[in-house]
Amino acid sequence: VGELNADLILYGIPRDLPEEREILASGFTMTLGSSSAILAHNLSAMGTRVSFTSRIGPDALGEMCCRRLHEVGIDLSGVVRSTTGSSTGVTLILPLTDTRRILTYPGAMFEMGIEDVDIDRLASARHFHMSSIFLHRKLTPDIPEIFREMKRRGLSTSLDTNDDPENKWAGVLEEVLTITDLLFCNEEELIKIAGKDDVEAAMAQVAAKVPLLIVKRGSRGACAWRNGKRIDVDGIRVNAVDPVGAGDSFDAGFLHQWVRQAPLESCLAYGNLAGALSVTRSGGTEAFRDAAYREQFLAAHWRDKALIP
Ligand code: ADP
Repeated sequence: VGELNADLILYGIPRDLPEEREILASGFTMTLGSSSAILAHNLSAMGTRVSFTSRIGPDALGEMCCRRLHEVGIDLSGVVRSTTGSSTGVTLILPLTDTRRILTYPGAMFEMGIEDVDIDRLASARHFHMSSIFLHRKLTPDIPEIFREMKRRGLSTSLDTNDDPENKWAGVLEEVLTITDLLFCNEEELIKIAGKDDVEAAMAQVAAKVPLLIVKRGSRGACAWRNGKRIDVDGIRVNAVDPVGAGDSFDAGFLHQWVRQAPLESCLAYGNLAGALSVTRSGGTEAFRDAAYREQFLAAHWRDKALIP
């Protein structure tokens, strides 16, 4: 469950544009965007069956995104079209290094409510994942109960908070942490969640709240904490061209192994592999859409014999 947006990647902007200057771009690429949809796409592209629940506008942008998801075989019967005049969300991605780098216009996603969520369909899966928690405005009060219901029905569950610019974590994070099996976050999110500046201290604090904490560390790889024990995996050296979607691809790789009940080390290694694959192409899904390239990359970096294809 999560958001489905289009990404507009803007070009022709000087990287060191002063804060006060208006931003004029000379061109853009439009592609499937948003954390949840990128995760769903890349997980399905690797061969795991995925059903996606979201809310979009009744517009061409939403249909374009759905076509991309349909291409890789995702069940889209949980994607609701808004009838209130809201449009599909858009994220502007600018080649800047400051806080203007990513601008999200969430659109219809803010309106997704519990009436849009088919609990029985979700419960027919083996695993439940939710991401981008701050975008679930209307759904927020119901999020803990959705997680509880998934647990009751025997699913394993995971949450990727993603960034929360308002730093409120939709008001439900603490409660969800007491229910979910897995929490994915990157180092910046971890620091915000813990309210501590020190990464190690933040990791120890959050790890004590969830059965399994997975922290993504960019080119340095990732680590997992379970039962007070930490496991690290080093980053894979690649020619990184675009970080967009790395974290979502990591989650996809991890879950691809997790639902097959692979050992934690294999889940971590495969997440790391998928995250590295993602950054080698521009946009969050391009490296996964190209099946020959994807398979060649995954096979070339296959170090762990326990990994399940
Ligand atoms: P997010 O996209 O959520 O900020 P990260 O930037 O930490 O997350 O990236 C997620 C994962 O993708 C990392 O844990 C790592 O496995 C992989 N990754 C990201 N950037 C690189 C890189 N430059 N080289 C190799 N792997 C990378």
